[in-house]
Amino acid sequence: MSASNPLQHFIDTLPGQTHLCDLPELADIDYRGYRELLQRWAVLPNARTSRIGSSRDGEPLWMVEIGNPDATRVTVVLAGIHPIEWIGTETALQIAKEQALDPCPDRRVCFFPLANPDGFLKVEKSLRAGKRKWVRTNSAGVDLNRNWPTHFKATKADLQGRRSSGKAPLSEPEIAAIVGKLDEIATGASIDFALSLHSIGKMILLPWGGISRRPDSYRRHYSAARAIRKRLGGYTIRQVSKWVPGISYAHRMDIDHLHAAYGATSLLIECTLGQLSLRKPSVLLSPFKIFNPSNGRQEGARIARALDPFVRGLL
Ligand SMILES: [Zn+2]
Repeated sequence: MSASNPLQHFIDTLPGQTHLCDLPELADIDYRGYRELLQRWAVLPNARTSRIGSSRDGEPLWMVEIGNPDATRVTVVLAGIHPIEWIGTETALQIAKEQALDPCPDRRVCFFPLANPDGFLKVEKSLRAGKRKWVRTNSAGVDLNRNWPTHFKATKADLQGRRSSGKAPLSEPEIAAIVGKLDEIATGASIDFALSLHSIGKMILLPWGGISRRPDSYRRHYSAARAIRKRLGGYTIRQVSKWVPGISYAHRMDIDHLHAAYGATSLLIECTLGQLSLRKPSVLLSPFKIFNPSNGRQEGARIARALDPFVRGLL
């Protein structure tokens, strides 16, 4: 690996640790921790990596770009906004592996592999310690999928004066860095496809989340979602704000902004049902198992294959 890869340079500063899947108590889950995950991104062939900013706690935020650097059509793939949804980060990596093996000749795919590294590290720490911790926010207590500028509406402050949306759009460095980079990309190119990878629910979600009406391009979104559903099998398609009529507005979310600001056909994938099953009620005691299937790498690769035509701008 070239010494000029800034991601590899950063990884080399991290202490080595036993791989998560080699820990006997975690033998039933197949996922990569922070160092392993970043290492896989760092060795992708045909990829250009840049640091776009820092998290609240100072962890670097990365963008990895694959495809024709001069292409004026761009797909965006976002993962790890919600830190416990590791199947989403694994799926993003698997999509990148497919792109790296067979880059688009006429398109750039810009990956934001881990939008919330502080939260991800917190989840990893709790897994290694055998604890069962649910982590939803960044280290300032903000849900990073409620901090985007489109359809922003601040939530009420809690007793500590914290707001789960943040005080204002882009108050959090993680989302400010991503939106800054997207704005820069959009000055010279068209971001026409966008994916945000989450879990759980086996759902393909469409904008808008912040208002009840449909976007003008609803049919375009729906037909792309339907083609993906056919490839994934067993997923449901919903507009976010129609999930539970009248009460399920999700203001200031990723896919609303990706569509409103850049015109992208933007989908949010709630990957899998985690390990939820009527036969395994004990799963309810483990937030990580609620949000993530046990065979993360295999399932991530399967979802990535289903999303491949969308990522390539073919749907
Ligand atoms: Zn999520």
